Amino acid sequence: MSEFDLIARYFVRHAHPKNRAMLGIGDDCALLLQQDGMQTAISSDMLVEGRHFFAGTDAYKLGHKSLAVNLSDLAAMGAEPVAFTLALSLPKADEQWLEKFSAGLFALADEHNCELIGGDTTKGPLNICITIFGQTPIGTALRRDTAQIGDDIWVSGTLGDARLALGAMHKEYELDAKTLNAAAVSLHTPQPRVALGLALRGVAHSALDVSDGLIGDLGHILKKSGLGATLNVDTLPAGAMLQKQSVEMRRRFTLAGGDDYELCFTAPASRREEVLGAALAANTSVTRIGSTEATPGTRLLDSDGKILDLQLASFDHFA
Ligand code: ADP
Ligand code: MG
Repeated sequence: MSEFDLIARYFVRHAHPKNRAMLGIGDDCALLLQQDGMQTAISSDMLVEGRHFFAGTDAYKLGHKSLAVNLSDLAAMGAEPVAFTLALSLPKADEQWLEKFSAGLFALADEHNCELIGGDTTKGPLNICITIFGQTPIGTALRRDTAQIGDDIWVSGTLGDARLALGAMHKEYELDAKTLNAAAVSLHTPQPRVALGLALRGVAHSALDVSDGLIGDLGHILKKSGLGATLNVDTLPAGAMLQKQSVEMRRRFTLAGGDDYELCFTAPASRREEVLGAALAANTSVTRIGSTEATPGTRLLDSDGKILDLQLASFDHFA
């Protein structure tokens, strides 16, 4: 199979009713029309075999996750998905793999009405890089540098199950097969919180998606906004499988897990009802976990209000 056969067979789709690209795959560039009054939100994420996923990971799930992590960035910005490009490095033209990968990719793309408009295909170590394009009315994007003093801090969904599964796969500890399989769903098929991000426009002051662990990621909002925070650690929503583990593990993995792809956002206390309304409209749970304050740094409190001293590191590829 030639490079062009491969692209035509697995990545070109014809007569998609919701096509938004004026020109999609097949020319030197795709052409997108910018709508009046809208800003384009752009983000890239790369998934490298052996680094972001194990060799032999199911291709359907990999297709899902490659796009999910990019959609999650749009969600965190409150942007509506429009289109994406796919740069793919493949060791070989494995038709079974391509069939499953593209099926997982397009299932999620269709769910979010996000169109594949181009890319690049080359031979090499398995590496998947997606660049995604979204849109938001000018000035409405949810940024990291706009949290305010006294904001509530919220997180969507649950945290820590992906980290729980990963630890078992790395043999840090053992989990029974049922627990591991259930936790691994969070690791392999995260659900990007796009609807919640859109519903939070005009309500939240700031937002980001939690990919490297809550405490480190929240730290980005705090640093950029010139604030500190207090978090009530035992209110953090743990994944269903993590809830069954020790308090110590629960605290550690909700605070500094990784691969959660939930939204962490801040909103004024006066808008709690609107936040809950947005969550309901988006059919996504949200939990209030603390508040921002002027004093820099993050203070962690247990359920008795006592300060916890935990040694936590957020994920850093070069640390
Ligand atoms: P060029 O030589 O101009 O870079 P290519 O030969 O690499 O173009 O690609 C041909 C067309 O196929 C382009 O429109 C490109 O965007 C598209 N394309 C290449 N690889 C992919 C892919 N993995 N997914 C989607 N479109 C792709
Ligand atoms: Mg090319």
